[in-house]
Amino acid sequence: MEGTCASRQKRDVIKQRLPELKEILRCCRLCPRECGINRLIGETGFCATPNAVRIASWHPHFGEEDVLVGTGGSGTIFFAHCNLGCIFCQNYSISHNGLGMEMTVDKLAEVMLSLQKNGCSNINLVTPTHVVPAIVEALSIALEQGLTVPVVYNCGGYESPSVLALLEGVVDIYMPDIKFSKDFLSIEYAGISDYWEQAKRSVEEMYRQVGGLVVNSDGVAVKGLLVRHLVLPNCPENTRQVLQFIAQEISTNTYINIMDQYRPCYRAHSIPLLARQITPEEFAQALSWAREYGLTRGGHEQ
Ligand code: SF4
Repeated sequence: MEGTCASRQKRDVIKQRLPELKEILRCCRLCPRECGINRLIGETGFCATPNAVRIASWHPHFGEEDVLVGTGGSGTIFFAHCNLGCIFCQNYSISHNGLGMEMTVDKLAEVMLSLQKNGCSNINLVTPTHVVPAIVEALSIALEQGLTVPVVYNCGGYESPSVLALLEGVVDIYMPDIKFSKDFLSIEYAGISDYWEQAKRSVEEMYRQVGGLVVNSDGVAVKGLLVRHLVLPNCPENTRQVLQFIAQEISTNTYINIMDQYRPCYRAHSIPLLARQITPEEFAQALSWAREYGLTRGGHEQ
């Protein structure tokens, strides 16, 4: 009954906001790249995505954070294309090359419901930023047909706070991967000069909406902010500044997953500073900073 009430509230919010979200596509500013092209007539900007949604895959995922997996896995839906364009992307065939199949919003709603039916703990929207209006429309349909599990917004951190504001009451869990705190790195590795500024404002907006991560009695996340940070080789200050921001500007209670799985992919082999995995010392330093800043949630406390 509680789920039904929450679903109805979400549907009401979507009904109010969907027209505005769709209108943003007319002169696209869904993300801070603000390409200004009309996606409603099929024009494409940096993300190479017209007014259509493309899905690379969907399945229960057991490799996500424990708090997202639960017993049935996290119901991940991987969207093709991306608004970031990192040169070290591990999923470049999906994010850069657009591998996937085009899908209607009705079919996307079906996918969401099938993941829930399979026992998934949530709907985990991977790289959703550039297709938010279609996702929200699909959510509206799925909610009408019984979707109750939490919605996870799993993004690369380069978001428009004004667009995020339209997702208040729709997204339950925000999971940004904060990649860069140094402008020279975001410029060189993703061609973006304002990544850090936008990421900081976006994470603040996410936290304002959902607060810290809340888990239920089974240890599964139901609401809140979960931050990821992939440690890159040869740039310790990048990591230190991300952790400092989270601790001092968001909250030391923030759940943060500091990731050590970087490996050179896509064009990273051609960049000497990116052409290797991180060392144990680099990862240990990152964990040490997290402890020093008082970040106590996320499995790095030891
Ligand atoms: S969503 Fe795509 S088209 Fe729109 S502003 Fe961002 S990169 Fe450009």
